[in-house]
This record gives sequence, C-alpha cells and structure tokens, in this order.
Amino acid sequence: MTADFNFNAKYRSLEGEVKAAMDAAAGRSGPDYRHYPYARQARLSWYQDAAGEWAYRDLDAHLWEVFCEQCGDTDGPAENQEAKVQHLRGPYRSKHQAKHAAGKHYRSFDR
Ligand SMILES: [Zn+2]
Repeated sequence: MTADFNFNAKYRSLEGEVKAAMDAAAGRSGPDYRHYPYARQARLSWYQDAAGEWAYRDLDAHLWEVFCEQCGDTDGPAENQEAKVQHLRGPYRSKHQAKHAAGKHYRSFDR
C-alpha cells in the first residue's frame, strides 16, 4: 500500500512538471501577450451612456474598422485614440480588408 501511494504521489508531481514544461514550450505560461483584434462595421454617432460607457447610434453601411483592446483601444470615437490605435481602426472599405488587417495584426503578436 505504501509503495503504491509513493508511486502515485511521484507520478502526479511528474505529471505536473511535464504539463508546466509543455505550457512553457507552447508559450502558455505567464501573461498572455497575444492581441485579439476583430473587424466590425464602423460605428457612428458615439455617445457616453449614464455609466460613462461608450455607445453608438449608427453603423456605417460602407466602412469597417478593427478593434483591438490589447492595443489600448478604449472604444468611442477613433479621434480620441492613440495614433497606433487609429491606424488599426482604419476605416477599411470592405469587411474583407478589415478582416485581413485584423488577421495580420493577430499574427504579429502570436508566438
Ligand atoms: Zn493590438
């Protein structure tokens, strides 16, 4: 019985080490440095609601934008954002172009 217990305890700790090593190799340990941008129809007529959160009244029928929270996009009008966030926002002339830009941005932070 004692031998079995020791074996199991040793196996479990080895399993933990293997998992930690695999996570490290896959870049999954520690903070997540990846960005998760997404394409959306360009938002129009921004306003702040009672709670101070950005909301919008309209969507542009022809323009698309890319939103990336990890770049520091705080939502709301593009002109309130940092230059790099404005650059990523676009706007883009098609959903395809916006999705392409989002994919490229995602890959530039993927590791
Ligand atoms: Zn980003």
